[in-house]
Amino acid sequence: MTVRQPWRVAIVGGGITGLAAAVRLRDRAPAGTEVTVYEQSGALGGKLRTGELAGGPVEFGAESFLMRDPAGGESAAVTLARRLGLADEIVHPTVGQAALAVDGGLRPVPGGTLVGVPGDLEKVAAVAEPATDADRDGGRPLLEPGADASVGALVRARLGDAVVDRLVDPMLGGVYAGRADDLSLVTTMPALARAARVEHTLVGAVRAAQAAAPRAPGAPVFGTLAGGLSRLVTAAAEAAGATIRRDAAVRELTPTPTGWRLTVGPTRDPELVEADAVILAVPARPAARLLAGVGDLAPGVAATVGELDYASVALVTLALPEPALPALSGFLVPATEGLLIKASTFFTTKWGHLARPDGLALVRASVGRYGEEASLQVGDDDLVATVHRELSTVLGTALPAPVASHVQRWGGALPQYTPGHLDRVAAVRAALRVGPPRLALAGAAYDGVGIPVCVRSGETAAEEIIEALGGSAA
Ligand SMILES: Cc1cc2nc3c(=O)[nH]c(=O)nc-3n(C[C@H](O)[C@H](O)[C@H](O)COP(=O)(O)OP(=O)(O)OC[C@H]3O[C@@H](n4cnc5c(N)ncnc54)[C@H](O)[C@@H]3O)c2cc1C
Repeated sequence: MTVRQPWRVAIVGGGITGLAAAVRLRDRAPAGTEVTVYEQSGALGGKLRTGELAGGPVEFGAESFLMRDPAGGESAAVTLARRLGLADEIVHPTVGQAALAVDGGLRPVPGGTLVGVPGDLEKVAAVAEPATDADRDGGRPLLEPGADASVGALVRARLGDAVVDRLVDPMLGGVYAGRADDLSLVTTMPALARAARVEHTLVGAVRAAQAAAPRAPGAPVFGTLAGGLSRLVTAAAEAAGATIRRDAAVRELTPTPTGWRLTVGPTRDPELVEADAVILAVPARPAARLLAGVGDLAPGVAATVGELDYASVALVTLALPEPALPALSGFLVPATEGLLIKASTFFTTKWGHLARPDGLALVRASVGRYGEEASLQVGDDDLVATVHRELSTVLGTALPAPVASHVQRWGGALPQYTPGHLDRVAAVRAALRVGPPRLALAGAAYDGVGIPVCVRSGETAAEEIIEALGGSAA
């Protein structure tokens, strides 16, 4: 079917995924394509939100992005920053060493691991003693073709409980606020999963994954933007040249003979808009609600998308007058330590560009684990007091009282990809391709949680839409 020109593309969701899709449409769709981004809140960026505390910038959401793609080469976030003229604004941690809070003290996170999974057992032994006789070559690859497993199950079976509980779990928990025993290897550690389909031991698989994407010595792992990640958001919105609609929740998506009708805005005063194609760049629950309206065309799709569960977390930031902080980027806390804090970043130590002439230190703690939402159901003052007390305990010193604090709650924000997640996503996308045309799904609900993965997911969705509308992505 020929599509009228100029194309009208609606992007639902103004997080980094939706904005990356908008930039890609701008770059690769025919000139004149009308792109509209609908964002339900008053601000773009979603989980990217740079704020201010005690007169200095601090991230109230995501903090940094991976510099490299796990498959090699620069990450999609770096490429996007370059596209937006921000490559020179990328800064790196000045202190990279993080610690684990174990047995009531801080121990350096051992090197040579992939998210805590060791490539050298000796290096981790001081923190987490691997099981004896662990990781024997059983004469076949660790993972069958097409199979998935939970990270925890695989590592427990090969290296024992201590490596999971004291190392892998807190490191994965730092990203997902979830448990290694629940999280999919294929989705959360794709490079290790690929190697596990070939290698016969876990240590061998870690080494193979590391060798497949070698890192130049000294090359920085993480980056962020001087001035904060919200700059990426603002610059992407500007470069996209799209119509940006804030405070515009999309409540319904209805297929029409030529494309889509979107119901936008409050129920009592809805606005109906037509689009030739739609990119859904929202979390799983709102996506499932919208997909329910197209259920006849793609049965089961909404239910499968809606199955994805999320963890809630809160980020508590304290501005402390000249505290005695160790020279660390922060620390991670295994769930077995019984603390509310699961991770902490010494913001002004880790990011030298944020160091403050007034000597104030910004310390951020992430609290809340998957399945423990009740622990967050207390007032902000209580969260601040608990974080201050636990930080003092872990650091072994009575920290000064904060001169300012901020609590940012992220309810239902971190996807919990269980084994088989990517297969379910592939099935959903295949169903949408044969069913309603020109509808692409993108973002953290599908392809992975990190900013680079979300950027790539948005860009891929844009390219799919260009192709579906009859153009070929340049
Ligand atoms: C606390 C926290 C810290 C993190 N730290 C890092 C980090 O340091 N590094 C990293 O790489 N990743 C980090 N992540 C993960 C990463 O930030 C996210 O996965 C990513 O930003 C998600 O982008 P997105 O655009 O897919 O979704 P979102 O950011 O969730 O954006 C979706 C947007 O859609 C809007 N929306 C929802 N429903 C509708 C609707 N019906 N109509 C219109 N708009 C709608 C929402 O308001 C939102 O703005 C962190 C996540 C959290 C929660």
